[in-house]
Amino acid sequence: MELKTLSDLEIITTSNSKINEVDFENLTFGTVFTDHMLVCDFENGKWEKPVIKPYAPFLIDPSAKVFHYGQAIFEGMKAFKDEQDDVWLFRPDENFHRFNKSATRMAMPEVPEDVFMGGLHKLLEIEKEWVKKGKGNTLYIRPFMIATGHGVIAAPSQSYRFMIILSPARAYYSGEVKVVIAEHFSRAANGGIGAAKAAGNYSAQFYPTKLANDQGYQQIIWTDDATHTKLEEAGTMNVFFRINDTIYTAPTSERILDGVTRKSVIELAKKENINVEVRSVLVEELIAAAKDGSLKEIFGAGTAAVINPIVGFGYKEEYFELPKIENSMALEIKEKLTNIQYKLAEDTFGWTV
Ligand code: PMP
Repeated sequence: MELKTLSDLEIITTSNSKINEVDFENLTFGTVFTDHMLVCDFENGKWEKPVIKPYAPFLIDPSAKVFHYGQAIFEGMKAFKDEQDDVWLFRPDENFHRFNKSATRMAMPEVPEDVFMGGLHKLLEIEKEWVKKGKGNTLYIRPFMIATGHGVIAAPSQSYRFMIILSPARAYYSGEVKVVIAEHFSRAANGGIGAAKAAGNYSAQFYPTKLANDQGYQQIIWTDDATHTKLEEAGTMNVFFRINDTIYTAPTSERILDGVTRKSVIELAKKENINVEVRSVLVEELIAAAKDGSLKEIFGAGTAAVINPIVGFGYKEEYFELPKIENSMALEIKEKLTNIQYKLAEDTFGWTV
């Protein structure tokens, strides 16, 4: 796949790069941004000319609908540099399509492919020095869209701003991750916005996650809102359970984000002859498997961490520690996936662009 190019794009570059001030060995995820950003406004029913310009704050009306009604969506993707200094994206078409699905669900206009993909292509060309070589170094890409139309009236905005900002990142390592299974709070409900990357989905998790943190857990495994019996997602990751030698993950639904990493793990596992089953795992099943020793691994899958092994889980005041195992499927899959991303292994799937 070739990235679309964009002919009608204004570019204003800075002569004042911050790159030499950045300590690339000690980056805190999502806190440092590159020199430029892409901006494209939607006004009077159409997208204006996109602009790449120096990264900077901008003015916005205090009554803009993004502040009052949370009309905002985003994506998260990564760029990788190979040994030949070429920059690669991983399945960017998936993020592009998911972005526009989120836009539709939030009554926002779809962003044209040439603006999203062509704009990203050009931005990465300008910022390629910010993508560092070596496994573990990445450039995190954050496309987002906000409602800029003013007026505190609860109705969709008439104007929007689409932007892409870039943040250099090291391999995401969050330490030992213990999760607690949700018994009361929910991340999403049928008919809701769980399958969209809408900003409000994330702020709604902050309070229950803070309560979980206070109990010593880093994240929550969300359960279905109706019965709290089916295991669905972990924080901002899809979740996999390995029972004996099969890995299970919930089917995507209106409540679950259709993760790019999740679908890649499923495809990769199938190719590696690892048994993988897409079906809901029940809380009681997990507890029984933890008790009889057949539960071997739990891991989260998402762009930021790629694969995040989980060391144990809590449920109703009880804590279940996972066994320390030699042949972790999570780590095997992570190695295979990152080798494809960094072009250290042949990409037989055609995922890298
Ligand atoms: N679930 C949620 C709620 C997320 O925010 C993310 C991160 N985008 C994921 C799952 C994983 O998706 P992906 O693999 O596409 O990053």
